[in-house]
Amino acid sequence: MIIEPQIRDFFAGRIWTRYNTPFPQSKVDTYILRNYFTTKKGITIRTKVLIFQRTHFTCNRCQNKIQQEFVQYTCAKCEKECVYCRHCLNMGRVTSCTDLISWIGAKPLTHKKHLLDWNGTFTEAQKEAATQLVSSIKQKRNHLNHAVCGAGKTEILFPAVHYALNRGLRVCIATPRTDVVLELFPRFQKVFPKTNIHALYGKAPKQTGFAQLVISTTHQLFRFENAFDVIIVDEADAFPYTYDQALQKAVHKVKKQDAPVALVTATPSPQILAKQKKEKWGYSFIPKRYHGHPLPIPRYESLWSYDKAIQKGRIPRKLREWTNEKLSNQEPFLIFFPTIQLMEQAIPLFQQLDERILSVHAEDTDRKEKVMKLRNEQILGLLTTTILERGITIKNVQVAVVGAESKIFTSSALIQISGRVGRNAAFPKGDIVFFHHGITAEMDEARNEIFRLNKEGFGKNETP
Ligand SMILES: [Zn+2]
Repeated sequence: MIIEPQIRDFFAGRIWTRYNTPFPQSKVDTYILRNYFTTKKGITIRTKVLIFQRTHFTCNRCQNKIQQEFVQYTCAKCEKECVYCRHCLNMGRVTSCTDLISWIGAKPLTHKKHLLDWNGTFTEAQKEAATQLVSSIKQKRNHLNHAVCGAGKTEILFPAVHYALNRGLRVCIATPRTDVVLELFPRFQKVFPKTNIHALYGKAPKQTGFAQLVISTTHQLFRFENAFDVIIVDEADAFPYTYDQALQKAVHKVKKQDAPVALVTATPSPQILAKQKKEKWGYSFIPKRYHGHPLPIPRYESLWSYDKAIQKGRIPRKLREWTNEKLSNQEPFLIFFPTIQLMEQAIPLFQQLDERILSVHAEDTDRKEKVMKLRNEQILGLLTTTILERGITIKNVQVAVVGAESKIFTSSALIQISGRVGRNAAFPKGDIVFFHHGITAEMDEARNEIFRLNKEGFGKNETP
């Protein structure tokens, strides 16, 4: 039987529901019959008899074992009591009576002539970090790349990705955030013009051929298994996702056994730092931004009972003045809110100041377009939830956090938010203000860490 390349290229490294593929069912069934796939039940059911009988479910796609996330129902297809997994439901239902299929036929052809078309230059620190990362990947050793916001983390990956691709290896760059996938994808397409790259996120357009480089949300990784030779996890402890057990499990499932994992982050957790030391991972640290200027230090401004004021239909004075100042200076700005609810109460008030102010949140379907509008200077300001705390770069952006004392603004979230400011070499400075109803330890921690990073970045002999 002649294998159709599009079938091989699609399924290689994937684990997929048998009856929900992009190919005709009869074709898929034929390949299964001829042993090009292995099949297993979507959900494993184990019955343990201890004192009383207990059933235990495991989802074979997302590896979920949290029993509360399994739903028992009367199945219309097999007319029995079946179970489905709620944890990965938004990628199509996995049930106990459906099969998952994994390709075990011939491997796709990988090519080894990838072009790295990038003529930017590295700072000393970037160069060192890039070299250290390549060296870790050569040795198949895990790696932690700790780089401050605006250090030029993406560029540091280019040599390592190029090295791996040219050895015929399959590389995955995983990130918890769709926004980061959307930002990275065109950049990698530009510098690797001869490489087939897929960008995977919810509702991504259909992409064809075998992708030797995959840029994916960590969520979409559920659909892979034993697939990658190198995994780079970008924004590893991005709030609210940390490089926690669930994510580690997902990465473990999609990587080949001896594949190295590289974590890239501006805010590594103490747990990750400890793990890196204990397991002797490679390590690189970039304390300085690529343009050589220090990180902007957040300032505090009290904004007592801001929520009550907004509920009463009024923007607190200091916040109103801040916004008016940015409007009259024609400086783009982001204002972070702790909740969607408060932001939605505030947006009509801000639109009275300037009708071209918009708001975005996680479920906003126009999120991409709105950020683009801010970048293209079609609008001046965006109100946002923490969804835009990272991954976005806007020239000369000014940033305010409203309710910086709120629980959602952890120190790492506040460091990331502050990191939006001053990224562009032409505008290395900018305002970052924490409007608060009482200063929290998390706020102080964020500010101290930024001080510390600046100190490390600028030794005694250097002046910022
Ligand atoms: Zn599942």
